[in-house]
Amino acid sequence: MNQHKNNSIAKDKPHGLIPFYIPHAGCPQQCVFCNQHRIAAGGARASQVDVKATIDEYIGNERHEKYWEVAFYGGSFSALPEDLQRSLLEPAYEALQNGEIDAIRCSTRPDALGETEIALLKAYGVATVEIGVQSMDDTILTRAKRGHSSAEVVGAVQRLQEHGFTVGIQLLPGLPGENWHTLVNTAVAVAELMPDFVRIYPVLVIEDTELADDVRAGRYTPLTVAEAVTYSAFLKEYFEERHITVIRTGLQSTPELDAGIGLVGGPYEPAMGELVTNYQWLQRFLKILQAHSAAGLPMHSVTVLYPRQLTSKVRGEKQRNMKYLAECYADCTWQWYEQGSKKAKAMFEIKTNKFSDNVLLFIDNFRYNVI
Ligand code: SF4
Repeated sequence: MNQHKNNSIAKDKPHGLIPFYIPHAGCPQQCVFCNQHRIAAGGARASQVDVKATIDEYIGNERHEKYWEVAFYGGSFSALPEDLQRSLLEPAYEALQNGEIDAIRCSTRPDALGETEIALLKAYGVATVEIGVQSMDDTILTRAKRGHSSAEVVGAVQRLQEHGFTVGIQLLPGLPGENWHTLVNTAVAVAELMPDFVRIYPVLVIEDTELADDVRAGRYTPLTVAEAVTYSAFLKEYFEERHITVIRTGLQSTPELDAGIGLVGGPYEPAMGELVTNYQWLQRFLKILQAHSAAGLPMHSVTVLYPRQLTSKVRGEKQRNMKYLAECYADCTWQWYEQGSKKAKAMFEIKTNKFSDNVLLFIDNFRYNVI
């Protein structure tokens, strides 16, 4: 029986995250892009007392309202000295055993996940481990001074899976040396590992990092927002097609980063997740249109029918997808209808709920299910 994955019970409740930032703690070196102290917005190192007090403070009298999860973020948790790990985990584990919280998770490095480290996490009820992988290209990992190889990622994920952990992988598209070749290879290698979820954070250049020096010296050019969207959309689509959940795209927005404080360059965009999803829809439409055209089929009128909840994603922000497609296929008549609208009903004579979750593309007399 996989006792860890049983912790996903009650996920129908809202998620109540109890985060503890452990900036840079446990890291044997300094990655060129990382300034954990700044990203963590000044989060102090958690102590044992903090953990207990913070759990109580977060939960208050809402124990049964949420699925409460303690998360140790920010550093390389399993690379911390063992006694420090124990002192942080003990109060969380006690809360887990007492039924005060539902789960514990941590983030860490792939080379700090040997059998000994995993056994410790397991003994204290940690159910989910997020691994900073960043890339599966060894040249990129070396240039980023990660201090581990892609082979160590494979070993770490496999060991965690054997022990029944939920495994997350964090990727950082756009590191020095990244190109489409390395990106595709990373997508393929990560998908083969079948993690439970992935986070995609296009590289930002933060002050007081080696990457910031490289930008100033002209040795590194960060991704533009458009490039970051394209890379991220490719990764997201690739994983989702393989039933791997992408839980986030883009760095978490903070007031400090929103104000550009500490940001030297890179594709900082608070709406990155939305832009990526919109771009995925554009690519799906293009794929169908290109296949239809390549088959030599007639193409005079195109109609897109979509459910209301997908309106902004399908049409694109500021109707960017609509404009782009109308330009690319200017010989066609384009129509965009929300399901259930009067026009859609009149045109398709369908009931409002008939295609409730689907986006449909009609090209002349041909009907395509877009996803
Ligand atoms: S291992 Fe993680 S926390 Fe440590 S320096 Fe590298 S990116 Fe930062």
